[in-house]
Amino acid sequence: MLRAQRRPALRLLCLCCCLLLASCAPGSTSPDAPAGQDYIRWIDFDIPEPALTRALQLDVESVNGDCHVGWVELLAIYAARHGGSFRDCRPDDLQKLYDARLSGKTAAELASNTRLYDYYTEAYGAVLGGMVGYYTEIRTGEDGSLTTAARYGLRAFSPLAAGYHYTDYDDFGAVRSYGYRRNHLGHDLLGSVGTPVVAVESGYVEHLGWNQYGGWRVGIRSLDGKRYYYYAHLRKNTPYADGLEEGQYVCAGEVIGYLGMTGYSIRENVNGINTPHLHFGLQIIFDASQIDGWNQIWIDLYDLTRFLARNRAPTRPGASPGKRVSTVCYLYPEQPD
Ligand SMILES: [Zn+2]
Repeated sequence: MLRAQRRPALRLLCLCCCLLLASCAPGSTSPDAPAGQDYIRWIDFDIPEPALTRALQLDVESVNGDCHVGWVELLAIYAARHGGSFRDCRPDDLQKLYDARLSGKTAAELASNTRLYDYYTEAYGAVLGGMVGYYTEIRTGEDGSLTTAARYGLRAFSPLAAGYHYTDYDDFGAVRSYGYRRNHLGHDLLGSVGTPVVAVESGYVEHLGWNQYGGWRVGIRSLDGKRYYYYAHLRKNTPYADGLEEGQYVCAGEVIGYLGMTGYSIRENVNGINTPHLHFGLQIIFDASQIDGWNQIWIDLYDLTRFLARNRAPTRPGASPGKRVSTVCYLYPEQPD
């Protein structure tokens, strides 16, 4: 059963409620919840790609300095100062905040609102927290030899491998009508059948197999448990990378499957989708109660997908006909940063 599409009436109600909550999201996570059970209920994630790019540059630039200004910290400071809106954000604005941090100002001083700053730190940290950090790059040569290098920086990939054309637009929240009327809680990347789909982040395969809406799909949970990446409508007959199974650890950048047009059918292995595409979803989980049911949080991935397009995994033919494997993947440290 598709996690994202369960309980349609309640889901729509939830989305409406969440959108209402989002306008006053900081501090409004759950005011009536018992102590110890309060958690974020919705995130409006609309940071433009240029802001993500500049924040990443500054994070990497400062990692070995006296004051490391992480990209989540910088983005949370800006968000706290502007009520969560990046509409007027210029990369220079982030540069000025960064310079002020290096000159000795604290994040709390710059944010000027601790409550907002804490909220955005937690919210953006959940969305972006695994994507930048230390990692080991593992590169496979043509003769199968492995070379490794320890690095720091962007350690997440575009969900589609290098060298394959795709198009996309911001379709988060668009109306879908198969099965029941609902909102689209993901991002579609339109491409050719067979385009290798890679793991955006390292994690564990939580779900794999058929469901009515997503067709052949894979769900991968991040190592810290906060992100659930959902890749759907994979290729008919040969949807997955060889050997992929539930519970398996996958490295960021590894091929996990192939773009297709399956789904919209209660029968397995049916091409019910008209246009080949990858449905790419990202669910944020602060509390176990948000895994299933009506209070799920899904992220608008349009800008984040554009941001990740700078890092597309190269592939080469695999052992099986029609299959490909990555030549680069990123192994994360055992302990979260
Ligand atoms: Zn979709």
